Amino acid sequence: MPPVGPVGKEPIPKAFGVAGLQAKSPPASARTPIYATTLQAPPPPPKAPGNPTVQGGPAIKPLGLGGAVKQLPQAFSSHFHLDRLESQTGRKDIGAILGTTGRPTRMLVKVVGGVLNYCDPQQHNMIFPVDSMWKVVVGIHPKKAPNASASILDRLQALICDPRVSAISELGLDFSCPPKTFKSQEGLLDRILRMGVSGRMLVLHMPGDTDLDPGGTQPSRLGRAALKKHCSRHQQVHIHCCQLTLTEAVAWRKVFPHAYFSYNASVSRLGDDQRKALEGVPLNQLLLETDSPHLSPDQEVPINTPAYIGEVVARVAEVRQEAVALVISATKDNALRLYGHR
Ligand SMILES: [Zn+2]
Repeated sequence: MPPVGPVGKEPIPKAFGVAGLQAKSPPASARTPIYATTLQAPPPPPKAPGNPTVQGGPAIKPLGLGGAVKQLPQAFSSHFHLDRLESQTGRKDIGAILGTTGRPTRMLVKVVGGVLNYCDPQQHNMIFPVDSMWKVVVGIHPKKAPNASASILDRLQALICDPRVSAISELGLDFSCPPKTFKSQEGLLDRILRMGVSGRMLVLHMPGDTDLDPGGTQPSRLGRAALKKHCSRHQQVHIHCCQLTLTEAVAWRKVFPHAYFSYNASVSRLGDDQRKALEGVPLNQLLLETDSPHLSPDQEVPINTPAYIGEVVARVAEVRQEAVALVISATKDNALRLYGHR
């Protein structure tokens, strides 16, 4: 894709322009792609002889709701990357979202919605689903900070003003990157915060040095200090891919009582202090996500998709010693409360 040029001259990405930036919208039939209102899962995998539901691996569990489950529990993935899923799976739209790879999911749920995260403006092939259960958030990933040109920032500013955008995403500091990028990351964070995003929901990304700071304490503290400068205590924040320690999680709740903490399959790699943080998150501030295609539940799943959100539920419920049915229903309700009206 050619570099993004100045606004007004740049080519409008196909799906994005078609969906709404043009003065006149084309008929609904011309818009691509559109999600089905009622989600249809892709065809089930072939059945193995002697096992009615699973091809290899442990049996699929119905989330502890009893044997004869008539209706699957409903789940919501609060953060994933449709653009990367599409390019890696070769599938489109709902097929990329609900399709499994490698093996079936071990926790059957009905994925009723989620948050599509677009964080690379140069690769944006953005779509705005017509189904209100799918939300769109945009941002510039901190890893892209060294390349955040004036035209890219201007493009982000335009998207921030688009009412179909539910939140500003991947705002933060990624200290798993080389230290030479930290200055530009801090500069980018400051510039986005000055764009007038206060009051919009902010999705935060704050991993630390993988070996020295797995809880991300350093970026968490710097990020919170930056937000405090620009946002009130009423600001809603969604801390995605949460790896925070207990001290940091408590500090966020103290400064921003409307902080939400979002966990994914990496929850099984959390250390003791990080697990304590997860145990301490109030149930009404907990979110679940599938996040990146590479954040698989295990090696049998080459590409992680929202179809595996049930396994995240199970892992989080185990750490918190809560019923999976409770966790799945609370996290879906929390996500809809946070994103439902945007
Ligand atoms: Zn992130």
